[in-house]
Amino acid sequence: MAIIVNAAKCIGCGSCVLLCPEEALDVSPSFVVEVDSENCTECLTCLDCCSNDALGEST
Ligand code: SF4
Ligand code: SF4
Repeated sequence: MAIIVNAAKCIGCGSCVLLCPEEALDVSPSFVVEVDSENCTECLTCLDCCSNDALGEST
């Protein structure tokens, strides 16, 4: 399992970046969130915070 970002939906607002307890999210220069899979503990906290439904899980 991993967190995936739907780049077409992400507007780079940064809400998920602020919520992540592991600092595993960052906004790229092109305003799309990127996931640092080495730091992500898959706590799923970020999944519900995105008002654009841009975050999801892969299997
Ligand atoms: S909360 Fe959603 S729209 Fe905002 S930066 Fe995160 S993934 Fe992108
Ligand atoms: S699942 Fe948890 S640790 Fe991983 S990016 Fe989301 S909030 Fe951060």
